[in-house]
Amino acid sequence: SGSFEVDSNATVLLMGLRRSGKSSICKVVFHNTQPLDTLYLESTTKPTTENFKSLIDLAVIELPGQLNLFEPALYDYEKLFTSIGALVYVIDSQDEYLSALQNLAVIIKYAVSVNPKIHIEVLIHKIDGLSEDFRLDTQRDIMQRVGDDLLDYGLEGVQISFYLTSIFDHSIYEAFSRIVQKLIYELPALENLLDLLMQYSNFDKVFLFDINSKIYVATDSSPVDIQNYEVCAEFIDVSIDLDGLYESNSQQQQQQQQQHAQQLKRNSITDTFEDSMNQSQYQTSVSEDLDALANTKPTKCISRLENGTMLYLHQMIRGLALVAVSRLEDSDETTALSVIDHNVAIFKKSLEKMWEHAKFR
Ligand code: GDP
Repeated sequence: SGSFEVDSNATVLLMGLRRSGKSSICKVVFHNTQPLDTLYLESTTKPTTENFKSLIDLAVIELPGQLNLFEPALYDYEKLFTSIGALVYVIDSQDEYLSALQNLAVIIKYAVSVNPKIHIEVLIHKIDGLSEDFRLDTQRDIMQRVGDDLLDYGLEGVQISFYLTSIFDHSIYEAFSRIVQKLIYELPALENLLDLLMQYSNFDKVFLFDINSKIYVATDSSPVDIQNYEVCAEFIDVSIDLDGLYESNSQQQQQQQQQHAQQLKRNSITDTFEDSMNQSQYQTSVSEDLDALANTKPTKCISRLENGTMLYLHQMIRGLALVAVSRLEDSDETTALSVIDHNVAIFKKSLEKMWEHAKFR
């Protein structure tokens, strides 16, 4: 019988019927695949595992939807369900979903019986095909039916979260961000730190992003505005392009890079933003900590948008980056930036400490 390498509770199990969109979600979120390129993906026929190493080690296990939980044990389901932190069930909202809901109810019943602490997350997926009104109707209908099914099973106390998602916009990232955050034991402490950082640095919004997936693992306690999210996520891409966030170069290469860096960065950051944001003019500056350069240069990027908004990115540990939006006035910039740098350096130290003492649910 098959087995999964799962031993951390920070594991997310992705399930759903065939063609509900599971592989596409993994490809888009974890492999930066363009949404349209998922059209011709082969449907999943065997379980696959994605590893996502960030503040927590997260594994997303994708099970093909047609597996039947009650078939003579093809897999050790009990072991699997006791070891995961969250079950994410994908429903194709553009299709007839009654059989999906039956399947979901059976899975929930089983999941909570072996793992009462499991987080149950339902993605009402492919909503790009539904009109605005119909989205809410669909969500209401699905929530009602799931509730009724659980009542039938005597499981009315089970908490379930629902998300409207599509791979064609940022909703899938938003949903995964919230799902992942629930698995981070240190989240309240992280949010506190980010709130403090906001206050003392004049930020309007601050995210702690996983650079690779664009999932944010934490943010301050102010509400998330999807436009802020988009701007920050795009800023990560721009910064990666010009700084190679992934590379850890030798010192020699770094020196060479440094010589060309300033000019190159000015050009590329301006170009990319001009492309993506309607030919506006941006003043951009990129600076680096010189002493940090000597080690493994953490990236720092700052950009000012036409409307006066400042974007600030600073690379953290474990593939994370802090990205902030600020409406700082031009005239205060120099002093403000040194204060921000100082605060962010302290935040990074706290993050490192937190990581050392990390324990997971
Ligand atoms: P799986 O069998 O659950 O892994 O499903 P796939 O990932 O193979 O997806 C099945 C089909 O749904 C593919 O043609 C995808 O392009 C499409 N799909 C996935 N996500 C979305 C979405 O958010 N919106 C739309 N319109 N189509 C999607």
